[in-house]
Amino acid sequence: MGAAAATAVVAESGLNATPILKDKKKKEVEKGLKVRFLGTGAADWKGPDSRGEYRRLSSVLLDDRILIDFTPTDEDMLPAGCKPECIFYTHSHADHYNPEALLKLGVPKAYLGKTWLTKAWKTMSAAAENTGLPVPEIQPLGIGETMVLGDIAITALPANHAIDATEQALIYLIEKGPVRLIYATDTGGIMGVAARISGIDPHVKNGTPITALIMEATMGMGDEGDEDYRLFTHSSVNTVHRTVKMLLRRKRYLPQEGQYVYLTHLARTLHPTQAELDAQLPSPLKAAHDGLEVIFKA
Ligand SMILES: [Zn+2]
Ligand SMILES: [Zn+2]
Repeated sequence: MGAAAATAVVAESGLNATPILKDKKKKEVEKGLKVRFLGTGAADWKGPDSRGEYRRLSSVLLDDRILIDFTPTDEDMLPAGCKPECIFYTHSHADHYNPEALLKLGVPKAYLGKTWLTKAWKTMSAAAENTGLPVPEIQPLGIGETMVLGDIAITALPANHAIDATEQALIYLIEKGPVRLIYATDTGGIMGVAARISGIDPHVKNGTPITALIMEATMGMGDEGDEDYRLFTHSSVNTVHRTVKMLLRRKRYLPQEGQYVYLTHLARTLHPTQAELDAQLPSPLKAAHDGLEVIFKA
């Protein structure tokens, strides 16, 4: 279906959320939700480094049709001939938001936080002038607001991340059939309001578990990672690990057996190589890498 057919379901998830797309046909459920990591790096990646490692700037593609964040670095990771129908932006930092790249890709609709609607309009209009390409339709999102795009529902949750005094960064709850995935970058931990809206806050008796988690681990591993100066705006490996252990204990994270929690937005200067991460990360954490495709089922 086209992006134009998307319908807004304002705050339908609300507090004590229940899965919106619970009653999908079995066949569709079996297909799962496909996530392709186009980029898994933080803003300090500028091409391949001296170790031969490379992470593009963080971006994912859902079911070959919906983008979350996109920069020119991610272009070569798109599947051949892929024409995404829309994009959801987490925030306006340049390692996530690049209006010219979006216009060149011809994505007709962009969803983004209502707190930076004016900035988005201005920067997209400037990009349109530079490229001679049309400005996409812009749909502002408020906290707790859910967009339904065919069989996928996406809810805006608040992130703990600083841009300026007025912009509220977003993370997203993505629901498809029984699959409930939180995609959390950029954020320092999961904010209480985000936990409450998505249903994973154990304070609420009848919550709703997630079945999958992709979370940023910008700051690296160990005490050094935990004590990094980016503490107020980003997460460490330990932040993600503690979050996952608590959610598992409280049954608010119910993954399929053997499924990893994927780490993304990894800083070049704060992480070892992919091979070292594969060897060192505690279960069930796994560093995503560019081009990785995961099908989440529940
Ligand atoms: Zn970032
Ligand atoms: Zn950022």
